[in-house]
Amino acid sequence: MKISEIIKECGVVGAGGAGFPTHVKINAKVDTVIVNGAECEPLLASDKYLMETESDKIVRGLEYIMEACGAKKGFIALKEKYPFLIQGVLNNAHGKGNIDIFPLGDFYPAGDEYILVNEVTGRIVPEGGIPLQVDCVVNNIETVLNIFEAVENNKPVTERFLTCTGEVARPSVIKAHIGITLKEVIEMCGGATVRDFVVIIGGPLMGTVETDLESPVTKTMSGIIVLPRDHEVVKKKTIPFEFIVKQSKAACCQCTYCTELCPRYLLGHGLEPHKIMRQISYGIDIPSETITNALLCSECGLCEIYACVMGLSPNAVYARIKEEFISENFKPIFPEKKLAVNEMKDYRKIPTGRIIERLMLSQYEGVNLRRGLETGPDRVEILLKQHTGEPSAPVVKVGDRTIKGSLIADIPDETLGAKVHSSIEGRVVFVDEERIIIEK
Ligand code: SF4
Ligand code: SF4
Repeated sequence: MKISEIIKECGVVGAGGAGFPTHVKINAKVDTVIVNGAECEPLLASDKYLMETESDKIVRGLEYIMEACGAKKGFIALKEKYPFLIQGVLNNAHGKGNIDIFPLGDFYPAGDEYILVNEVTGRIVPEGGIPLQVDCVVNNIETVLNIFEAVENNKPVTERFLTCTGEVARPSVIKAHIGITLKEVIEMCGGATVRDFVVIIGGPLMGTVETDLESPVTKTMSGIIVLPRDHEVVKKKTIPFEFIVKQSKAACCQCTYCTELCPRYLLGHGLEPHKIMRQISYGIDIPSETITNALLCSECGLCEIYACVMGLSPNAVYARIKEEFISENFKPIFPEKKLAVNEMKDYRKIPTGRIIERLMLSQYEGVNLRRGLETGPDRVEILLKQHTGEPSAPVVKVGDRTIKGSLIADIPDETLGAKVHSSIEGRVVFVDEERIIIEK
């Protein structure tokens, strides 16, 4: 069977972001494959843990992707501030002339695919494009590990490694079963240490606020960060949009700092957040290049948490415009143009340490994380949409028995999607269009 077919059977999706189905991503011919080990969001540590403990498998996983894509060169991009991780990879890549380490600086957002491709190869992904257009495929560390497990052990994705930290008694990196609740993971970490808290799913910059602790762990969940409800990060993420607009109209002084520090603008893309702030004074439903350029925004959050002297949120405005485009199925086409990196790009990289200070997360950074823990749930609620594309279609019904790794939902015909597998041995007790619940 082709490598991409094996990966498809095992339900591998991008573990670092939106969950793009990996079998589609690697079904391409490129000259370069990059493993994204930047893990640039503060507090997250599971990719570093995997690089430390599973680097042999990650190097092998990279070789499988290179084989599938016909790539001549493979890079594992890691921050140079972790020499012990780099050494581990070098030991495992010894004698493999087509695999190199790429040492990254400690800046945010080093892990943005577009930034990473440019750092490693000097190429610029076109506006609204994908790395494939510049002959590259990028996969994150855990995705590559899942590829290794699929190809060598025929193992479907049934767990994910995540960092549970912040206001918990024992911050940890945990191997969590897909479908276990946030509450169970937090309890495994000694429980919350503050009474009134919320959870950030993912990293503090790009993650989302979740208040329902019964929500299940998914294939794309890299972090569970417990924070007091009145923490600055939470406040920023929960400001009502109407207030953001009002504030922007009243307070934006058009200083252009947000644009000057925007990583995508510095890459040469036509994204100028100060212009969207000017535009919203006239109403964001006015069609213009400024509006459609919202789709060029990575939502890294740098403009909001670092650049803007007035505490405004161009990223939130862009996020809202993107939501509207998606709901209207509007897909603008960006004309091809010659892009050139801004000459100030390297001078305007923002060190991760400064982001941590700005976000008031210093007390949670650098804590000793417990490692080697694995969950053991009696019940899992497995979502049928954990990936980009169409929700998976159940192939089990109430009363069916499952074993760990058995198929429970398939990709609907002729659509983009991913297969879903049972993460425990048990019996199906509930099925609808959104989820399958299995109990031991
Ligand atoms: S940095 Fe803030 S105040 Fe300055 S242009 Fe951007 S949004 Fe407006
Ligand atoms: S969130 Fe802000 S800084 Fe980041 S890409 Fe979008 S506009 Fe640029």
